Amino acid sequence: MIELLSPTEIARGAETGALVADILQAAKARASVGTNLLELDALARDMMLAAGAESCYVDYEPSFGEGPFGYYICTSVNDAVLHGKPHDYALHDGDLLTLDLAISLQGIVADAAISFFVGTPKQEGLDLIDATERALAAGIEAARPGGRIGDIASAIGTILQGAGYPVNLEFGGHGVGSTMHQDPHIPNWGKAGRGWKLRPGILLAIEPWAMLDTAELVTDADGWTLRSATGCLTAHTEHTVAITEDGPRILTSAH
Ligand code: MG
Repeated sequence: MIELLSPTEIARGAETGALVADILQAAKARASVGTNLLELDALARDMMLAAGAESCYVDYEPSFGEGPFGYYICTSVNDAVLHGKPHDYALHDGDLLTLDLAISLQGIVADAAISFFVGTPKQEGLDLIDATERALAAGIEAARPGGRIGDIASAIGTILQGAGYPVNLEFGGHGVGSTMHQDPHIPNWGKAGRGWKLRPGILLAIEPWAMLDTAELVTDADGWTLRSATGCLTAHTEHTVAITEDGPRILTSAH
C-alpha cells in the first residue's frame, strides 16, 4: 500500500526535511581529519533531540540487520556504502564519508544522505560522488504526477551505468511518510513506463548509490555495515521528495 500525504502533512514533512538537512550539514562541517565517528553520532543525537524529533534508527531491527541498530546516524567510510554503524574510528585524510539520516518530527519522516571527502580527495571518488548526485537529480526530475516508478529507476540507472558503474538492485529508494520504509520500492535501474503510478501526495526517498568496480555487497562483522565486495570506494546520495501537482518538491535540501 502506498501512503498518500495531505498538503498539511507534506508541510510537516518539509520541517522534518529541513532538520535532516541541518543535521547532515552540521555533521559534514564537523567531519575533519581526526574526528571520531562517535562524535558525529552524538552530534546527530543532540540536534534531533533538541528539536523534539525521534530517531528512526536507534530501535530499528529489520530482517537484514543484526539486532537494533543502536545509533542515530549511519556513517559509512570508503568501501562501506550503506547502513554504516558508527564505531570508535577517527577519520583519516582522504576518507570518503557517507552520512545517512532518517528522523521523524510531528509524525512525518524524512531521509537523506550525502557523500564527501575528508581532507584530500581522490579523483576516482569525486567522479563516483558526482555520478550519484547526477543520478539523484535525474531521478528527482522524473518524479512527476502521471509518471511511474520505472521512470525514476530508469533515469537513475541510465546515469550510473553511463558513468561505468555496475548497479546493485538489492537496496534502493522507498516510500516514506508516517514510517521510514514503505512501498513503493525504487530500484536504481529499471524500465521507464513500468511500476506504480506517481500521484500527488506520495513521498519518496530517492537514493542512488554506487561502487567503483562491483555490484556485490558484503556484510561487516558488526552485522549491519554493507561494504563493497572488492574493497573499492563507494558513494551514496539521497533526498526525500514529495510528488506535487506542480512536480517534485525536494524536502531535504541544504539551505
Ligand atoms: Mg536514508
